[in-house]
Amino acid sequence: MHPYIRRTLEAVHKRNPGETIFQQAVQEVLESLEQVIQEHPEIEEQNILERLCEPERQIAFRVPWQTDTGAYAVNRGYRIEFSSALGPYKGGLRFHPSVTGSVIKFLGFEQIFKNSLTGLQIGGGKGGSDFDPKGKTDGEIMRFCHSFMTELARHIGEKTDVPAGDIGVGGREIGFLFGQYKRLTNRYELGVITGKPPAMGGSYVRKEATGYGAVYFAREILSTQGQDFEGQRVVVSGSGNVALYAIQKLQSLGAQVVGCSDSGGSLFDPAGLDFEALKLLKEIERKRLVEYLKIHDRAEYRASEKVWSIPCDIAFPCATQNELAREDAQLLIKNGCTLICEGANMPCTPEAIKAFEEASVILAPAKAANAGGVAVSNLEVQQNANWQQWKPKQVDEQLQTIMKQIHKNCLFYAERYGQAGNLIHGANIGGFIRVAEAMRDLGHV
Ligand code: NDP
Repeated sequence: MHPYIRRTLEAVHKRNPGETIFQQAVQEVLESLEQVIQEHPEIEEQNILERLCEPERQIAFRVPWQTDTGAYAVNRGYRIEFSSALGPYKGGLRFHPSVTGSVIKFLGFEQIFKNSLTGLQIGGGKGGSDFDPKGKTDGEIMRFCHSFMTELARHIGEKTDVPAGDIGVGGREIGFLFGQYKRLTNRYELGVITGKPPAMGGSYVRKEATGYGAVYFAREILSTQGQDFEGQRVVVSGSGNVALYAIQKLQSLGAQVVGCSDSGGSLFDPAGLDFEALKLLKEIERKRLVEYLKIHDRAEYRASEKVWSIPCDIAFPCATQNELAREDAQLLIKNGCTLICEGANMPCTPEAIKAFEEASVILAPAKAANAGGVAVSNLEVQQNANWQQWKPKQVDEQLQTIMKQIHKNCLFYAERYGQAGNLIHGANIGGFIRVAEAMRDLGHV
């Protein structure tokens, strides 16, 4: 390992003790940069790596709110404004009981490179809370969102920091958050948050963009091999926003999607998942996945089992970080899977990635493959700036163009820095170089 990379990793460990998930994310990026550091000594001279690994600003705050029964509840809110070298901080908000400062920091760090790869002018940030939306009523969700925004509002702005959704934060939550922002500031500042429902200035295709984008990215990979999705057997983990719209797009391109999951287990439908039934269950009725069996008794719900045991040609991990471990990778390889496309952020553990590399399974990394969400968020900001709303087809075409370009960039940077065909290195290097150049040109700020 290059001594400068080793020293930086040591500094990151020392400065962020116990934050293993953040350390994992940093290590994965820095390990790709050996040759870049050798060719560009100014990176070390200007200590760009260590500066980049230190968030520009970290905010943590109390979120008090009241339950329907009148109980006084409290959660912790976070916003990490990681890097504004390329533009206003941009990244989603996650509401999930597993959220900690380290989780938000890892997500914010990943976001820097993802946003850079889109080629758009967006910096990296992330936020959220350990609030668990599961089982809460609409009233409780609204009170929580309003309280969360009461604190967050002073830190965000369309030219400062633009949040969006992530796990546990969809159109309903974004609506409540924007409502409180509008009330507090007395400004209909559309571009302050993205993922808004279209009626209040949201972009068409934003809801679908992360899932669609991941499928478009995988389509590029397949096309370099003279293949397409027709007849391919696919499994997708999760059944939330990213998973749902990946499933829809996969099916429209001819794939047979036979499995998905939630935190309780996995669903196998030998006839191919019924997208409309899934959408109704998960997005509209907000029910558990097991209820799918009431609609299709041909299907099977395997409690506490991951979706990776279902044989497939292609797998889309679209639930959460580190959800695909070494033994899952080995099972997928044994069952003939040849392509993994990461819809979730950092879903594969380092050991799983190694197993895929050893078996020559292609891995499309999250930074590139799931960048469609943030890309369309940025298109939403552009529409908002001009008080316009583009047609769904126009947004979708731009999304396809962006995903194509990201794939090209990954291949280009992988080859340019001696790792031809390795999309993980290509994404890390391509994302890094643009940010590093901006940091160099901005000076020591
Ligand atoms: P949602 O909250 O809509 O859905 C999350 C899904 O993952 C649910 O089905 C959930 O099941 C499942 N899940 C969560 N934790 C676990 C777990 N520990 N084990 C198994 N399943 C789990 O979130 P999104 O679809 O928005 O996000 C999914 C992933 O995609 C995340 O990694 C997110 O960071 C990433 N992402 C999202 C973007 C977006 O635009 N939404 C953009 C870029 C990345 P259950 O309901 O049981 O909890």
